Amino acid sequence: MHNGITCRFCKSPLQHTLVDLGMSPLCESYLKTEQLNQMEPFYPLHVYVCESCFLAQLEEYVNPGAIFSEYAYFSSYADSWLQHAKNYTDLMVERFGINAGNHVVELASNDGYLLQYFVQKGVPVLGIEPAANVARSAIEKGVPTLIKFFGEKTALEMVEEGKQADLLIGNNVLAQVPDLNDFVKGMKILLKPRGIITMEFPHLMRLIEENQFDTIYHEHFSYFSFISVERIFAAHGLKIFDVEELTTHGGSLRIYASHADDSTKPAGQHVTELKNRELAGGLAGIDYYFSFGEKVKETKRKILEFLIKVKREGKLVCGYGAPGKGNTLLNYCGIRTDFLEYTVDRNPYKHGKYTPGTHIPIYHPDKIKETQPDYLFILPWNFKEEIMRQMSYIKEWGGKFIVAIPEVKVYE
Ligand SMILES: [Zn+2]
Repeated sequence: MHNGITCRFCKSPLQHTLVDLGMSPLCESYLKTEQLNQMEPFYPLHVYVCESCFLAQLEEYVNPGAIFSEYAYFSSYADSWLQHAKNYTDLMVERFGINAGNHVVELASNDGYLLQYFVQKGVPVLGIEPAANVARSAIEKGVPTLIKFFGEKTALEMVEEGKQADLLIGNNVLAQVPDLNDFVKGMKILLKPRGIITMEFPHLMRLIEENQFDTIYHEHFSYFSFISVERIFAAHGLKIFDVEELTTHGGSLRIYASHADDSTKPAGQHVTELKNRELAGGLAGIDYYFSFGEKVKETKRKILEFLIKVKREGKLVCGYGAPGKGNTLLNYCGIRTDFLEYTVDRNPYKHGKYTPGTHIPIYHPDKIKETQPDYLFILPWNFKEEIMRQMSYIKEWGGKFIVAIPEVKVYE
């Protein structure tokens, strides 16, 4: 039976489920002690896939103003993410000759973690960031930032003020845009005639094939394959001329786009190769999307099976990290302090707070040394190598690491 909702991009009725993770609170709404006894809003985490354009998507259950006006995620707290940003800057300078005569604009520029590297090279930049608290942190480090949501209206205002972009960057923002068409239309408007857009977002093919169900949360409205994003860009007069597959966030795409009529940027072989791989994998057929839901349920059973076993043995299990993805996993699996005594995070904003829905206390990483857990459950598995290096001292007391995605695995 049709539920009345339609595709965010092509407006076809949405009638196929990719995965249903039940009800969950907003994954970035960490709680203070005095909020623990209050009601918490839970919303469905039910992902549909469109049978016409194959965009996987969540309904917009929550107004983005409520999610993004005060955001707890400061990009600068992850070392490998900063390195990624620096490498990207060097690449853009080298490949496209971005210099002091160009204008670089980043959409959802967070705390200036990326644009700061262009500033260091003397390139004029402008960040656009709706979360006031992180935007202020960017401004303090010398990255000019507009505190705004981006779309057609903001783009037109910027063009009026002569602020078109030679390089327009959007990393991990496309997924978070409720009005996708308005956003991409805005990018088309803001881009100079020979300008370049680069965007990074998690690759839906990797999400499905590597079981990354915990990267689904209310803040991520859309989940893209290459073929779906190409179709969306084409509808707005933009073409993708190159694509790279990155390891960030468990497997992301970095697309390079230009105006469709910019003949100086012909589509390269990576575009053809990835498109063919997706077509061969079946991503342009609805059947491809049907087995994921059952795989996710089985993963939940395995995670709980493991935790029940080690808790019966009397082991102390603690978390490492309190990322958004951790909260999807904890809520979906029903993991509370009965399994994870506490978790730790390097972001001081989260210290003394509790994970949404599951109420696991979040401490400074020093707590690990004090309590010497038998198992450290790494929630941000995309940083697992970095974390296992930093925390290798848990081996002194026989501590082990657990990672749950793509499957439950113990690292000694
Ligand atoms: Zn669609």
